[in-house]
Amino acid sequence: MKIGLECHVQLSTKTKLFCGCPNNRQKVVEDEHVVNEPNMQVCDYCIGLPGTKPRLNKKAIEYALKIAVALNCKISSESFFSRKTYFYPDMGKNYQITQYEIPIASNGFLKVGNKKIRIERINVEEDPARIVHTSKYDSDYKSASITHSDYTLLDYNRSGVPLCEIVTDPEFSTSREARLFLQDLSSILRYLDVFDPDVEGSMRVDANISMGSERVEVKNISGFKDVEKALNYEIIRQKGILSRGKAVARETRGWDADAGITRSLRTKEEAEDYGYIFEPDLPRITVTKSRVSEIKSLIPELAEEKVERYVKKMKIGLDLAISIVSDPDIAAMFEDVAKKADVQTAAKWFAGEIKKTLNYRSMRLKDTKIKADHIIKLLKFVKEKVITEATAELILREMIMRPEDPEMLLVQDNATRIYDESILEPTVNEVLNENVQAILDYKAGKKEAINFLVGQVMKKTRGRGDSDAIRRIFLRLLK
Ligand SMILES: [Zn+2]
Repeated sequence: MKIGLECHVQLSTKTKLFCGCPNNRQKVVEDEHVVNEPNMQVCDYCIGLPGTKPRLNKKAIEYALKIAVALNCKISSESFFSRKTYFYPDMGKNYQITQYEIPIASNGFLKVGNKKIRIERINVEEDPARIVHTSKYDSDYKSASITHSDYTLLDYNRSGVPLCEIVTDPEFSTSREARLFLQDLSSILRYLDVFDPDVEGSMRVDANISMGSERVEVKNISGFKDVEKALNYEIIRQKGILSRGKAVARETRGWDADAGITRSLRTKEEAEDYGYIFEPDLPRITVTKSRVSEIKSLIPELAEEKVERYVKKMKIGLDLAISIVSDPDIAAMFEDVAKKADVQTAAKWFAGEIKKTLNYRSMRLKDTKIKADHIIKLLKFVKEKVITEATAELILREMIMRPEDPEMLLVQDNATRIYDESILEPTVNEVLNENVQAILDYKAGKKEAINFLVGQVMKKTRGRGDSDAIRRIFLRLLK
């Protein structure tokens, strides 16, 4: 069995690849989506109006070069863009600007465990618009399957977002290996700070799999787990066909994540079908040797090297080390804390309680109020037995939301009740925004509506807000 991957990574530049439109994509915040209005971050160029011309985003090339260096690739001293012609509504120009003849880099590798996975090439290209296949029964405009949708919506906000395409040789022999590769790749991209994993669809994978003679391509899989699932499905499907003495057809299939199956989309085009031609509106990209060394100097210490250093120099257990480096922000803060606190305790807290608390809140460290100095102080309290570990955990939960010294929190929180109106007020406002009907009822004379509102704040503060304080704020705001 041979499996190869083509990973499409959205680069987190400020603007799009060939125009000045903002590259603000959808962020997934907990279960909700922070949605940008469709088709608002577009200009004449990225919707493909005739006569418009591309201007290359220098930062996107820098990001791609960083990826190329981190993946041990040979960087082309000169590369250029080509037009990949196809007729489909996700590309206003009817061609995608990509790299074909000479990619920006090639012949690299990434070590996954003991296995070297060869990287065939790295291309820079523009993302097409987002296509949402929708069912009339689906009021949320969530994606229905391409084969079962009633109509299709197009969002050109994504059209022109810079993509880095990373193509591996067909060297994976199991679906699990493919998943581990993607995890490691994602970690590298995060350390390089060129990619935001929280953005929906920021890494999309096409997987090639062949067990007999013909190759099947499964298109557009989001997420490592789904890649593994899609491959497992294909392995079973193809084994079934082969065991009946039939041949697997060469085709392109789509992954239906909800149904957990792949579906046939079309029989495979040959590469020549796209009719690539040289893009005349863009200059060639020249990368000098000194530019390559400059890029090399921008590469930070990556996860694998960090684990090695933590284990060998800091004497931290392997599992703890792997857990800490899985998030670059956690690793950075851990290193700050470890300079001034007991290293083993710090490692245990960063790999344990801190990650657990963040997971519970579905937050990333960078979105919290936690400061290294405060963690140092907290760990000191634990070490000197000023507080128990259980109390320290409670204080840690507060520190996520409040940029205060743990000592202050300890005093203020005494029994962990929140009396401070300035802390409660944002939650009160949140509840007011969410419960317009209750406000109207209250103003219409149903005074008991306030009990409901107080209850909502209590729920949000998990019973820790002082109800008298909350009531006072409501009475003040609803006057
Ligand atoms: Zn634009």
